[in-house]
Amino acid sequence: MALVLYNSLSRRKETFEPLDPKRVRIYVCGPTVYDRAHIGNARAVVVFDVLYRLLRDTFGAEHVRYVRNITDIDDKIIAASRESGEPIASLTERMTCLFHDDMASLGALPPDEEPRATKCVEEMKAMIARLLEKGCAYVADGHVLFAVAAAPHYGELSKKSRAELIDGARVEVAPYKRDPADFVLWKPSTPDLPGWDSPWGRGRPGWHIECSAMSEAYLGDTFDIHGGGVDLIFPHHENELAQSTCAHEGRPFARFWVHNGFLTADGRKMSKSLGNIRTVRELLDEDLNPGLRRGGEAIRLALLSTHYREPLDWTQEKLRQAHTSLFRFYAALARGRRPQASDAASGPSEVRDALDDDLNTPLALARLHELATSVNRLHEEDRYDERERAQTLLLAGGQLMGLLGSDPEEWLRGAQRGDAVLVDQLIADRAAARKTRNFAAADKIRARLLDLEIVLEDHPDGTTTWRRKM
Ligand code: AMP
Ligand code: ZN
Repeated sequence: MALVLYNSLSRRKETFEPLDPKRVRIYVCGPTVYDRAHIGNARAVVVFDVLYRLLRDTFGAEHVRYVRNITDIDDKIIAASRESGEPIASLTERMTCLFHDDMASLGALPPDEEPRATKCVEEMKAMIARLLEKGCAYVADGHVLFAVAAAPHYGELSKKSRAELIDGARVEVAPYKRDPADFVLWKPSTPDLPGWDSPWGRGRPGWHIECSAMSEAYLGDTFDIHGGGVDLIFPHHENELAQSTCAHEGRPFARFWVHNGFLTADGRKMSKSLGNIRTVRELLDEDLNPGLRRGGEAIRLALLSTHYREPLDWTQEKLRQAHTSLFRFYAALARGRRPQASDAASGPSEVRDALDDDLNTPLALARLHELATSVNRLHEEDRYDERERAQTLLLAGGQLMGLLGSDPEEWLRGAQRGDAVLVDQLIADRAAARKTRNFAAADKIRARLLDLEIVLEDHPDGTTTWRRKM
């Protein structure tokens, strides 16, 4: 089956064929490095990591070029540095390293190129100069602005009406704009703010021009896929599209636009400004076995348990279910002789087929569960050769999604150690709940343990012991 992706530009699923199968090019908007990544940021990274892995598997790793930028100059960064007193360069460097650590613990591969905005200011200035030359931009009051009147298709990506476009641009309302929908390419910096010399005075680039200039520098005028979260469609991607198309004399920009849905908490978008974030680090620290990458892998699986275009409401329950799934997969892999990674060169067709259909990760995970069921059944029936084949398929399918990379026995030993600590803690919590006659809470804890395949036995002397259900 060929890879099919939903293209936000056409608003339908399309068969993905790269312009050049020897050079498949994807650009994804990366983080603004002023704070630790939250689990919503991680969703975008993990979703595009699955797409990257799938492209590498389909076209060959050496034929895929994945570029994800680092936004290291931005008003939010300036504000964070002012608040904490930490110099901007040190803050952004530190946050970039932490971002790398957090994403590695989620099993995300590093992109092939990771340009930093501050290192590409010359390219941005050159693009702005070209836009001015072509009459698509103008200088006003120390700013350079993009003239949306020069982009006849402006609004085609976000499908917004003229009134909505103007409304959306209101954040930057300014008397010097020719059209209220015009947006900033370059803005002046005061001496105490970071800035670069330019023909338009000392200043700094607007956010949108960063990605247009960096994608051009690393991938050329036209490339295959541009990705990011749905929140970026307008204004960020709409503006990138307009300015890149103008700078490239109408040549197409990204052929496919792929957007992941929001990660929400209690139904609201997770974001710093709403104050409802959970950082990846917090979630990893809560885990009992961080050294075993178990926590990161469970977070990754939980993020993939919902289709990438659907909203995903983050709950502890989802994370717990992901732990249980991993336990099941690793237990199936640990039966008898362990399959070798080399056996698992390419994903099994059922898992691949699911991913090829617009990255249907929930279906792919369901297929891994079916494979684990087959492994267990074949094992019971002493059909060892077939069991090994099913194990190889399970491993290959998992690895295509960036999962099941640990040694199964080691993983299970770590999980059991962790479970022992967890179980003791839960038994203590349950005893405390029973003491205060909160039987509903006590029953909930018992059910949670049962989910972990742990059976409790209450003894007449008031003590409780536990055993693993098998
Ligand atoms: P930012 O650092 O805010 O520029 O975001 C970096 C990436 O994370 C972008 O692709 C955003 O679309 C994405 N993102 C931010 N918040 C969320 C969220 N709550 N759910 C899904 N993606 C998000
Ligand atoms: Zn961008």
